[in-house]
Amino acid sequence: MTDYLELAAPGLSGLHPYQPGKPIEALQREYGVSRVVKLASNENPLGPSPRVVAAVRDATMELARYPDGNGFALKTALSRHLGVGMDQLTIGNGSNDLLELISRAFVTPANEVIFSAHSFAVYPLVTQALNARAVVTPAKDWGNDLDAMRQAVSPDTRLIFIANPNNPTGTWLDGGSLERFLADVPEHVIVVVDEAYFEYANDACLDIEGYPNALQWLARYPNLIVTRTFSKAYGLAGLRVGYSVSHPQIADLLNRVRQPFNVNYLALVGACAALQDQDYLKQVIALNCAEMGALCKAFDTLELTYIPSAGNFIAVRVGENAADLYEALLREGVIVRPVANYGMPEYLRVTIGTKEENEIFVSSLKKVMNRG
Ligand code: PMP
Repeated sequence: MTDYLELAAPGLSGLHPYQPGKPIEALQREYGVSRVVKLASNENPLGPSPRVVAAVRDATMELARYPDGNGFALKTALSRHLGVGMDQLTIGNGSNDLLELISRAFVTPANEVIFSAHSFAVYPLVTQALNARAVVTPAKDWGNDLDAMRQAVSPDTRLIFIANPNNPTGTWLDGGSLERFLADVPEHVIVVVDEAYFEYANDACLDIEGYPNALQWLARYPNLIVTRTFSKAYGLAGLRVGYSVSHPQIADLLNRVRQPFNVNYLALVGACAALQDQDYLKQVIALNCAEMGALCKAFDTLELTYIPSAGNFIAVRVGENAADLYEALLREGVIVRPVANYGMPEYLRVTIGTKEENEIFVSSLKKVMNRG
């Protein structure tokens, strides 16, 4: 048989698929547990606003039609909500789509892409898929080390990925440091500030000192792209919709490489409805703050250290048997995320759930750690 690996595009031999959190059905099938608490994929435990559900249900009448490939209604709503031009927006099938479109638009095998250790797994994936060189800078206190990133810039660097806050560590950069970095990076380097968890970090209740809204710098730094998503605080991970805000010329390029209908009709409708229900968003964020606090307190009681987080998840240090604890938690019906593949073998990443879900997680953790 022909070895199709030899025919495949050059980056593919070194490419390994993204490892998502274990789906609920898989746990039920494999472990025979009926009650499952999934705290593995930074999903919103409250789900979307009821207004979104109603709008999406109504929209099922129109499924035979192609969606608006230019996303006019959503771009109009986003443009108002964010105070940016329609021509600065590109919408995507999740913000993941944007990360890929940005790479495809700018990165060739001759280029280098910079990102930090312990940063989001999609950055190395898109870099490898294009057979470009990944330059991984060491982390500082588990977060992006901007000095190291600046020093890593070479004439071949085309792209830098910075998640703020970062996943899976939850660390964040303050506005002063990030702006100094943007001012310092040469214009031939595109800087992506990935704000997938913006809504959580931006709200005062988590008390994230100095957390910036990167949109403020777009006018000054045309090489900046900000990405955001409806998957997290808006609770629409299953619909797949995200967006980027950039200089119009960059948005034009991203629009050239995307599929004509990259965001489906229900996603467009759902995202528009989600933006309109800002009161619901406040409830989501308030729950996250309260439960982040409760979980940290429980970790303190168990004398477990954790990395303070600006997102809807937290990385907790459970020790060198983290993989066994992950398995033992699965048997209790609790799915968290092992992060050894992120260079954090002693940690588990736990998404903040509802009060009840978090209590089940904590009591299961106590049980599997024999601290009951
Ligand atoms: N960026 C970061 C930092 C993330 O954690 C995620 C989701 N895990 C994404 C982007 C992509 O999310 P989505 O494609 O659902 O918008």
